[in-house]
Amino acid sequence: MTELLLAAMTLFFTGMTVWNGVHHTLRNRDAVLRDGNVSPFVIPLLFFVVPSAVTSLLFAGGTVAGYLRALTAPGAGVLVYLAVMTGVLAALQIRYRRELAAFDHRQKGFSALPGPRLLLINPRNGERSGLTETGHSKFPPLGLGILAALTPGHWSVRILDENWESWEFTDADLVGITAFTAAAPRAYAIAAEYRKRGIPVVMGGIHASMNAEEALRYADAVVTGEGESVWPAVLADFEAGSLQPLYKGGQSSLENAPVPRRELFNPRYMFATVQTSRGCPMDCDFCSVTPFNGKKYRQRPVGEVLEELAAIPQRNIFFIDDNILGYGKAAEERALSLFQGMTERKLDKSWFCQASINFGGNPEVLKQARKSGCRMVFLGLEAIDPDELKTMNKSLNARTGYRPALTAINRAGIAVLGAFIFGTDSDTPEAMMRKTRFILDNPVDVIQVTALTPLPGTRLFERMKGEGRLLHTVFPADWVRYDMGEMLFHPALLGKDEYNRAGDRCRKILYSRWTLLIKFLATWRRTGSLETAFWALGSNQVYRRATFTVPRSVKVPLAL
Ligand code: SF4
Repeated sequence: MTELLLAAMTLFFTGMTVWNGVHHTLRNRDAVLRDGNVSPFVIPLLFFVVPSAVTSLLFAGGTVAGYLRALTAPGAGVLVYLAVMTGVLAALQIRYRRELAAFDHRQKGFSALPGPRLLLINPRNGERSGLTETGHSKFPPLGLGILAALTPGHWSVRILDENWESWEFTDADLVGITAFTAAAPRAYAIAAEYRKRGIPVVMGGIHASMNAEEALRYADAVVTGEGESVWPAVLADFEAGSLQPLYKGGQSSLENAPVPRRELFNPRYMFATVQTSRGCPMDCDFCSVTPFNGKKYRQRPVGEVLEELAAIPQRNIFFIDDNILGYGKAAEERALSLFQGMTERKLDKSWFCQASINFGGNPEVLKQARKSGCRMVFLGLEAIDPDELKTMNKSLNARTGYRPALTAINRAGIAVLGAFIFGTDSDTPEAMMRKTRFILDNPVDVIQVTALTPLPGTRLFERMKGEGRLLHTVFPADWVRYDMGEMLFHPALLGKDEYNRAGDRCRKILYSRWTLLIKFLATWRRTGSLETAFWALGSNQVYRRATFTVPRSVKVPLAL
């Protein structure tokens, strides 16, 4: 009878475990395949082994032979589980490898395609990988996908993305390069290689927009602002042999926006990126969003976004809007109908987004966001002292109590990625430790602490430059330092070394394995979702790695 009971229980546990393992592995296949995440199939096994072993031992009867016999059934269960999961993983791997091989083959064949050939390049910072160290924190260059979509059909287009493949010379008729500030020197070096061979280069993106004069020294043409409105003219001028040096893109309407050609993105990305709005009225002192995308919050029609989402094969989505919720009643209604639309269409996505602290103020928004698959929200909290927030022009944060908003977000089952800044003019070692304590004691599930970075085009940059406080001004070479990881100006209240020591002390506490374990358990408890807790843990590990290692993972064969 005991034997029968044991066998029945093992059968039940095994069935449950296999179902859970297969279910979670398939649901999280992007993370398993693309980021090497093993938790979706290891965790169910742990949940099986522990209870079934304990139950079996209870029935063992106290003899060695009894123990051995009792453990036979769970042992067989483990073997069954391993066999099933090996099959599932092998099937997924075979499909994924085929996808990669087909993509790599297409990339290699680009140079041999009939012209005109457009090569779009997304360079990486050649010196530091910073936050883009793992698959978890790399995101497809959406802007290049949009330009590809706007390129007429008689062109062949390739996107060379240094997040995954180091640049090596690839023949083309026209080259387009985008770059964040920290990758600008690398972009210029690559541009020089093409121009040396007589191949024209067009540069665009946030850095070239904020430094058009500088970019023009390294490119044949520069596109400033949002490129959609002028890209067809750039290509037409090129084909007519009359490429102009400067094209001002300004800010485009987001109705009937082109759908990015995602098939040109490297399939190794864990997240697909989608944009539903642009612009931000908040105009924070350190932020380049308002200078680039304008103060007006422009929104795409919900129906168009839903159509785009439905066509994306990946489950994991990052809404790259600077604020998915926007400001005011109408914007909130739009976000609500987007979330409801995702649920009604059964899109079955897991997603994260960026928002302001008002995301935590509307229970209906939180409920619908969670229902549609929201796992995590990035909030630019920056500081905790209202006066410090006011100096950054972060007045919404200064007016809003953090704790109730963060708690409400957690209660809805969503993790909070809290972004904080060290290095403001009111930071002292004590003030930085107060921020650290706040992060530890409050529902901040994922911790991002970066150095206040005076990005070009912002008021902060102009002020630091005007006050003669910038520490590294050999531009463009020094732009590689502008990756949010380093103090780039003389701090107001302390020396740079003192600032660095205080920052290091805080980061050691924040990113210790112990803190991350506590945060993981707290996220699981507060959100009630193991999947959400794993998302948060994965993100914390990215920040930990970026904080404690500054690897040179990209070879820089080129010099400026
Ligand atoms: S930091 Fe956020 S809220 Fe402030 S201007 Fe930039 S996008 Fe807007």
